[in-house]
Amino acid sequence: MSVPTSISGFPRIGRNRELKKIIEAYWKGDASLDDVRRVGRELRAEHWRLERAAGIDLIPSNDFSLYDQMLDTAILLNVIPARYRRLSFDDPEQTLFAMARGYQGERGDVTALPMKKWFTTNYHYLVPEFDEATEVRLNGTKPFDEYLEAKALGYQTKPVLIGPYTFLKLSRDDQARELRVDEGLIDAVAGVYAEILRRFAHLGAAWVQLDEPCLVLDKDDADVRLFKSLYSRILPAREGRVKVLLNTYFGDIADIYETVRLFEFDGVGLDLVEGREANLAAVGTHGVGERTTLFAGVVSGRNIWRNDYAESIALVEGLQRVTGRVAVASACSLLHVPFSTKGEEALGDDVLRHFAFAVEKLDEVREIADLVDLDDDAKKASDVLKANQLLFDGSRVARDDAVRARLEALADDDFTRLPARAERQRLQREALGLPPLPTTTIGSFPQTSQIRAERAKLRKGEISRDEYDAFIKDRIDDVIRQQEQIGLDVLVHGEFERNDMVEYFGQRLNGFLFTKNAWVQSYGTRCVKPPIVWSDVSRAEPITVEWSRYAQSRTDKPMKGMLTGPVTILNWSWPREDISAEEQTRQLALAIRDEVLDLEAAGIRIIQIDEAALREKLPLRRSDWHAKYLDWAIPAFRLVHSGVRPDTQIHTHMCYSEFNDIIRDIDAMDADVISFEASRGDLVVLDAIDDADFETEAGPGVYDIHSPRVPGEAEIEERIGEILAKMDVDKVWINPDCGLKTRGEAETWPSLGHMVEAAKAVRSRL
Ligand code: GLN
Ligand code: ZN
Repeated sequence: MSVPTSISGFPRIGRNRELKKIIEAYWKGDASLDDVRRVGRELRAEHWRLERAAGIDLIPSNDFSLYDQMLDTAILLNVIPARYRRLSFDDPEQTLFAMARGYQGERGDVTALPMKKWFTTNYHYLVPEFDEATEVRLNGTKPFDEYLEAKALGYQTKPVLIGPYTFLKLSRDDQARELRVDEGLIDAVAGVYAEILRRFAHLGAAWVQLDEPCLVLDKDDADVRLFKSLYSRILPAREGRVKVLLNTYFGDIADIYETVRLFEFDGVGLDLVEGREANLAAVGTHGVGERTTLFAGVVSGRNIWRNDYAESIALVEGLQRVTGRVAVASACSLLHVPFSTKGEEALGDDVLRHFAFAVEKLDEVREIADLVDLDDDAKKASDVLKANQLLFDGSRVARDDAVRARLEALADDDFTRLPARAERQRLQREALGLPPLPTTTIGSFPQTSQIRAERAKLRKGEISRDEYDAFIKDRIDDVIRQQEQIGLDVLVHGEFERNDMVEYFGQRLNGFLFTKNAWVQSYGTRCVKPPIVWSDVSRAEPITVEWSRYAQSRTDKPMKGMLTGPVTILNWSWPREDISAEEQTRQLALAIRDEVLDLEAAGIRIIQIDEAALREKLPLRRSDWHAKYLDWAIPAFRLVHSGVRPDTQIHTHMCYSEFNDIIRDIDAMDADVISFEASRGDLVVLDAIDDADFETEAGPGVYDIHSPRVPGEAEIEERIGEILAKMDVDKVWINPDCGLKTRGEAETWPSLGHMVEAAKAVRSRL
């Protein structure tokens, strides 16, 4: 029997981001919900067709989503907070979008659900919220509809759902606290999943995939009990008619594998890329249930590089020595990789042959399964295998000796900024003369369609570089005038010249490659197009200096220089796999360090180095945090700024607030000021700041920029009050919680106006 193939999920945004385009058109009133539904159907049909054509046996359904699979799951379990129900929309999609984005209109005014990073990816999920009135029951028919839709097109699919354990672990109560899970809730949730299994059995589904990525996290006894309680109630509903694939990814499940094995799932999906050693060891120790198929996740859903077939074949064959039932699978959903390398031919075949995006990864899954089936002689003779091995023979040129020499020469001093922060803070206060509770923004201002249009014209050669630069300068002048008008204290130039905070730098550094269309969903309709680290990285020439110099020349207020930090550049790029992340980060740190020093020399007194992505690559297991990450990531940041004068103020920004657990590491970055998100999540980080005697001055975001909603002045004042209850007033900055580039002008200026007024009101009472 040939080896079966499976993928966990497929990108849903579409080859050309069709889903993004139609949903955004709908939001603007330029398309109807029926248009959105139609495009959704077309995309699903196309994706199933591609999966079948590639020879995938277990084709997923319900991996599609209009916004987010966690939000879909919340709605499916009827976990819809009362404030959204009260809007009483006619169409379920309207409720869904209100939960995702907030709603401000004739039916009411509600904020969106909080959003969080999906494990170590750059995908964000909406956090389900249970309130007093929540009554868990099956609500809606999305998974069944999509299953039947596929069936009608001739595809027998494997419906995919977020599993009950992960759902409960990631849900919060209406105070943003972890859920207190009692027997009643377990019964209710398990009841819904049991009903789902029975319905799928009835509809004729052979497999149902339950994604339980939370199983790769650290667990305590209560977690293990929760897992057992849920599945012992759910699995009997299989009734021998439908198979359950317990799918895990982003790490290993070694600490619960024995329990999982005893449940005799029909399938267990293991990540053999990120959780390789520990997962294999667990399988070796505890074996595999008699009826269980192991889904060997050998094709990464997190990189763009070709799979090393020899390695994958060895992994699969290793498992085959333990059990006869092995399927070849993607290590996680392909949601996190771009659609296809087709259309990227401009990169040249020498480059392109090293890449596999989602469509190509389908072929890889099939090819690995086919190769596993061959005997040794046939393998040796296989052209597919030979061609693959050529990619890994070391012939790719990626080395720059000058970069290596500079790294070698680094000494401990290069990682330490002097004098100590308390002394610097005194000097900076004198030098900058800012009022208490200084107001600022995170850097970008709305990237209007006009700005994108001008950039497109430049790209197509329809306007000259000078014309484009004049246009950008005009925008800078305008945004400076408006910031001065509303009375902000520390200004920014708006980042209009940047398409993206990582790509912009990548394009100006040696060592990066760029794609035309390799978009990946980040949240909702928002996609990112990460650059690719291809070889050793260095800075060819100053990147931002002229823009910052110009902007500072147009105002007497301090103008922040705006850079992206090395950890974030790497985390939001596709990293190399032939050298370590640590080494790549240091190369980047040196490049950005050059830029910091040039900005300072150009008269810029405040420099913000964004490390928006620092936390997201924190290893999932706490025992790995320092040894495998922070011990090199934090020094890399210090390397960037350790060379500046004491009175140059270094800011950093992070797009999350959950750093209570690494608060001392954040302090150890030795920035002078940090701004971070706080308005959408909880405010527990403020307690941590309080407890840790956090030295860095901080601006916890006072309003949510991920929603078009305009916060009122009173609301912001209240928020500032909450912050001041926990923090020393002379350490507090007032800012929104992230950059404003995705917002419209219409909401940006009133919101900032309210923010400045709120700060002034609080200031006047100090
Ligand atoms: N300076 C960037 C901006 O304002 C930071 C963006 C981010 O944190 N994602 O857009
Ligand atoms: Zn941010």
